Amino acid sequence: MQQNGKLIVFSAPSGSGKTTIVKELLKEKDFRLEFSVSATSRKKRPEETEGKDYYFLSVDEFKKKVRNNEFAEWEEVYKNQFYGTLKSEIERIRNKGKNVIFDIDVAGGISVKNLYGDNCLTIFIKPPSIAELEKRLRHRKTETEESLKKRLAKAEKELSFADKFDTVIINDVLETAVKEVKEKIAIFLGI
Ligand code: ADP
Ligand code: 5GP
Repeated sequence: MQQNGKLIVFSAPSGSGKTTIVKELLKEKDFRLEFSVSATSRKKRPEETEGKDYYFLSVDEFKKKVRNNEFAEWEEVYKNQFYGTLKSEIERIRNKGKNVIFDIDVAGGISVKNLYGDNCLTIFIKPPSIAELEKRLRHRKTETEESLKKRLAKAEKELSFADKFDTVIINDVLETAVKEVKEKIAIFLGI
């Protein structure tokens, strides 16, 4: 019988480069990775696609799924902006024998690790500094001044959780960070 896939969680302050790194990893066919699409109540950005980047829900729809116990984990990452991993999403990918890759916040990452233990590798992506994080967020041009401030304020707290993760990678030069992450994943998957 085909073995259930493993789980690889990426967490980091917003703007650290998780999405960029995960996109690179998805190109690596030997890793057999599939991205866990989270549900969220935040607004869709113009470049995002429903069902590919997120399942976009209203706050009411999100809360209904919470009540129905449909989430493996969920967090109110920012005020009134809910994000969560649907149990059905994890099982859909694992049942195909594929490994699941997550881009979720620090608290969510720790919850998934607690649920799946040794079947789960948690990777924390660290920006070189808060100043560089701010620069990257501004450059990405997805945030208002207000949401940027919210994300930076949260970043300081999130950085203090880095030591709860199996491994910490500093995303200074992108190519180096991607190489280091690939090495860790290859060991975890036994490739
Ligand atoms: P996250 O998913 O953690 O919020 P992103 O992957 O969206 O972060 O990256 C934030 C911004 O920083 C993007 O504009 C991205 O192109 C840029 N970026 C990512 N990694 C690096 C790097 N090593 N050096 C400079 N810019 C980077
Ligand atoms: P963004 O709005 O930039 O897409 O994501 C904001 C934050 O929410 C990021 O830290 C991201 O990792 C986190 N996030 C995305 N999906 C989930 C999820 O399913 N669960 C949790 N706990 N956090 C998530």
